[in-house]
Amino acid sequence: MRIGVDLGGTNIAAAVVNNSGEILLKISNPTMAKEGQEGTVNRIIGTIKELIEKYDSRAEYKGIGIGVPGVCDIPNGIVKFAPNLFWKNVPIKEILQKEFNIPTYIDNDANAAALGEAWTGAGKDKRHIVCITLGTGVGSGLILNGDIFHGAQTAGELGHVTVLEDGPKCNCGNTGCLETLAAAPGIARIAKDAVLEGKETILNNYVQGEDFTGLTAKEVFDSAKEGDLVANKIVEDVARYLGLALANVINLLNPELIVIGGGVAAAGETLFVPLKKVVEERALKDLYNDVEIVAAQLGNDAGIIGAAALIK
Ligand SMILES: [Zn+2]
Repeated sequence: MRIGVDLGGTNIAAAVVNNSGEILLKISNPTMAKEGQEGTVNRIIGTIKELIEKYDSRAEYKGIGIGVPGVCDIPNGIVKFAPNLFWKNVPIKEILQKEFNIPTYIDNDANAAALGEAWTGAGKDKRHIVCITLGTGVGSGLILNGDIFHGAQTAGELGHVTVLEDGPKCNCGNTGCLETLAAAPGIARIAKDAVLEGKETILNNYVQGEDFTGLTAKEVFDSAKEGDLVANKIVEDVARYLGLALANVINLLNPELIVIGGGVAAAGETLFVPLKKVVEERALKDLYNDVEIVAAQLGNDAGIIGAAALIK
């Protein structure tokens, strides 16, 4: 039996996971990150205690795995920097091991999600996998030879690959990162610009006066499905930027599988069809023939299952 923890900016989800990667019991509590580092650490401890009590307080646990939204010093189990949690240099591995006397493993949340998909999701039985999550940001993890590839520290930052040299400014300081053009806020921003330019489009129906909050990435994909030309052009652009990034990754790493998850990926074939076309045009033929591009299977559970998979 293992304990997997998915630490998010909004919720702490924890589950008892068996050695086949099945969730036996899952609970979730609010992170309340704004209340500070110590409070969040205490809520993680409280959530794990609650889970153990609810499942079986006498069960033996092989380990605790935790996926964290930030940059980690993995061997030492320290969260170096997690902006959404307001964390700096938190020795979470040591804290949890002391509290529970159970071996503890940490990794970045995108890496954990990739490992989850590799263990029981879309990547089962595959050894070279690139996972990309398109949500409020772009998260990605590389599974090479069946394990997370960390590089010197934190490899696999596909969200910050440049796809448009003089594109929009990114939170990282660069311009034209994939994240600014293929994550949900970027897509909503491009749609807003199209409406402000006075283009004839059903996207206008989601805007009330100066209020653009009803116009999100989902409305863009829905409108594209309905045949709206402006929305289709936006989706085509998203597919092109994402396709460029993925073709480069395919030429570099020769993966067998690319798994795409997150809210934007819920657009399904509306996104996947033009995306695959761009990848086919851009990637080397032999390498393109080796790779399958598929939707993620585990949804929000990927992080928790992957966290449990961190346990050696
Ligand atoms: Zn960036």
